[in-house]
Amino acid sequence: MSPDFIREALRQVRYPGFSRDIISFGLVKDVKCEPGLVTVHIEIATRDEKIPQQIFQNCHAILDPLPDIGTVKIEIDVKDASAAAGGVGGTVGKSSIPGVKRIIAVASGKGGVGKSTVAANLAVALAATGAKVGLCDCDLYGPSVAQMFGVNERPMANEHDEIIPLEAHGLKLMSMGFLLEDRSPVIVRGPMATRYTQQFLRQVAWEDLDYLVLDLPPGTGDIQLTIVQTVTVDGVIIVTTPQEVALIDARKAVSMFAKVNVPITGLVENMAWFECDAGKKYYIFGQEGGVREAEHLNVPLLGQIPINVETRERGDSGSPIALAPPASNKVSAAFHEIAAKVRSKIPIG
Ligand code: ADP
Repeated sequence: MSPDFIREALRQVRYPGFSRDIISFGLVKDVKCEPGLVTVHIEIATRDEKIPQQIFQNCHAILDPLPDIGTVKIEIDVKDASAAAGGVGGTVGKSSIPGVKRIIAVASGKGGVGKSTVAANLAVALAATGAKVGLCDCDLYGPSVAQMFGVNERPMANEHDEIIPLEAHGLKLMSMGFLLEDRSPVIVRGPMATRYTQQFLRQVAWEDLDYLVLDLPPGTGDIQLTIVQTVTVDGVIIVTTPQEVALIDARKAVSMFAKVNVPITGLVENMAWFECDAGKKYYIFGQEGGVREAEHLNVPLLGQIPINVETRERGDSGSPIALAPPASNKVSAAFHEIAAKVRSKIPIG
C-alpha cells in the first residue's frame, strides 16, 4: 500500500456534478500510509455541505474494499467559501490573490457571444470610476486580450519569478496570449490545462488592485470550476445574446456557478439590437431574450449592449469602446452603467 497507489485509486472519485476527479482537481493534499492505517487529507472550498459528504462517502466506497488496506481515514478540510458566497451586500470578502481586493469573473455558456468584449469594456469602465483594475484573460484556447488592447510585448518576470502584468489604458493586463510564441492556441487538454491555468492565476504579480476581472473561457466545464476553486471569486457576470440557443447555455452557466456557490452578479445581454442611422432598432437575435431570462432565473439584468460596427472595430484595434466619452457614445454609456452597478453590488469596502 503506497500513497501513489491510493492516489491512483482516488482518480475514480469525481467532484460531484463534474466529470473531473478529485485528484486532477488537486483537492487531495496528502496521503499517508502507515501499517493498518491510510489517511487521506482533502481540501475543498464550498458552502454546500452535501459536497464534502458525498466526496467522503465516495472515497470510502473506493478505498474500503481494497485488500489489506486496514483502517481508512478521510479528513476533509472545508475552506470557508463564505466570503465568495457573501456577494451582494455581504461581508467584504478576502481574495486569495495577494493585493487584490475583489475578483469578478465574466463567463458565458458558449463562445462568440461577446464575453471578452464585455470583460474588456467592463474593466475599462470600472477603471474610469477611479478604481485600480486588472484584466486577466484565462482562455488558454482563444486568448483575445492582447488583440483587444493592442499589446504584443512579452511580459517580464520579477525577482520572485512572478509575471509582471503589461499595462494599457491605465489597466494591468495579463493573458495566456502574451505567453504564446505565435498566438497559436495552446494544445493542452484535461489535467494539463487545469494545472497551467492554476499556475497562471497564482504567478502574476498584480500587486495593488481594487478589482481583478477574469475573462473565463467559454462554457461550463472543469476549467471554469478549477478557476473558482483556485481563487475566491466575489461575483460572476454571465454574458448572453438574446436568442434561445445562447440562452440555453447561459442557463447552464448560471446553474453551474450556483452549484459551486459563486454569487451571480447578473446577466448582460449583448448584441441586443442593431440601431440604424435613422434610429430604428432591429432585433436581429430576438427581442429581450436576456431580459426575460434574467427574470426567469431571478438574477439581476445588468444591462443591454447593442450590436454595432464601432464596438467590433474598436475591439479589433486595441481601443475598447468604453474608452469613448459616455456622454456622446451610447454603447460606451451602457458599459459605464454596467460598471456602476457592478461597483455597487461588489463594493471594495
Ligand atoms: P467571446 O469572448 O464570447 O467569444 P468576443 O468578445 O471575442 O466573444 O466577440 C466575438 C466577436 O464579436 C468579436 O469580433 C467582437 O468584436 C464582436 N462583438 C462582440 N460584441 C459585439 C457588439 N456588441 N457589437 C459588435 N460586435 C461585437
